[in-house]
Amino acid sequence: MFPANFEYIRSHSVDEAMAAMQQHGSEARILAGGQSLIPAMRYRLARPAVLVDINPIKELSYLHEKDGFLIIGATTRDAALEFDKNILARYSLITAVSRVVADPIVRHMGTVVGSICHNDPSGDWTATALASRATMVVRGANGTREISIDEFLVDSFTTAIEEGEMALEVRIPIPDAHTQGSYQKIERKVGDYATCAAAVQLSMNADGTIRQAGIAITAVGPIAMRVTEAEKMLVGQRPSLDLIKAAASEAPKIASPNPDQRGSAEYKSDMARVLVGRGIKESLQRLGVSA
Ligand SMILES: Cc1cc2nc3c(=O)[nH]c(=O)nc-3n(C[C@H](O)[C@H](O)[C@H](O)COP(=O)(O)OP(=O)(O)OC[C@H]3O[C@@H](n4cnc5c(N)ncnc54)[C@H](O)[C@@H]3O)c2cc1C
Repeated sequence: MFPANFEYIRSHSVDEAMAAMQQHGSEARILAGGQSLIPAMRYRLARPAVLVDINPIKELSYLHEKDGFLIIGATTRDAALEFDKNILARYSLITAVSRVVADPIVRHMGTVVGSICHNDPSGDWTATALASRATMVVRGANGTREISIDEFLVDSFTTAIEEGEMALEVRIPIPDAHTQGSYQKIERKVGDYATCAAAVQLSMNADGTIRQAGIAITAVGPIAMRVTEAEKMLVGQRPSLDLIKAAASEAPKIASPNPDQRGSAEYKSDMARVLVGRGIKESLQRLGVSA
């Protein structure tokens, strides 16, 4: 199907994009990689009257570290992370997820920020952003504001971005030498959305206890969800198989998956448990810690 008619605005600077967003208000949508928005428009699930294309904005294409954060600009493609030497060397969670989002063609167009703004119930980047405690930077008429990822992700396909605003970047705390992560995803075939997936990131204290835990699941509820009780259970403890089992058992308690062609609700809930357990174990392995 063809999309409904729309006006197309090509922006060459953040100021130009902001002016267009403010002029057209709720009628306007940002076009980033177009990998979710264009299909939604073709199926008439989205009918924006105005598309504000941010792809020509060179100042939004960056991937660098500053003030303790990895900063990913709004037009930075997934593929930029997948092949970045610094990411490969130091960001095990991001390395793992960047290889399993969609397929290589989609990853060369889709953006990390666009994916988080889309907030698909099966999004891989939203779960990763939760586990790594990311912050979104959003610009509106009154300037720029920072929003923690937990507040940013409101509901399916809904975020804290307000009318006339756009996201400029996502900031991810740089993992220190005692931090490792894992992304566990079950998909029907390469390139598919998750049947269920879990993002895990653990930081250790020198005494062998867990300092910080980030755990999130996706595709098993209306949005990606932080498994808060599992995180709490791990922090301050020495890893053991019993502890991992108990933490993983928290995942199905917050899951509310819909049965579909990818599996029954029971199967998906149980996979949330299994994948969180595997994610914790793999993170510990990468840390050189035995449980
Ligand atoms: C075949 C296929 C398979 C896929 N498989 C997966 C998968 O396995 N896992 C997964 O997570 N995703 C998957 N996707 C989605 C893909 O990762 C998208 O790229 C991503 O969800 C959206 O990023 P985008 O840059 O293309 O955003 P767009 O499609 O351009 O935009 C998506 C939404 O976000 C808004 N938006 C984008 N950028 C901004 C901004 N800077 N500020 C405010 N709003 C903004 C847009 O207005 C729109 O509403 C798949 C897509 C396809 C086509």
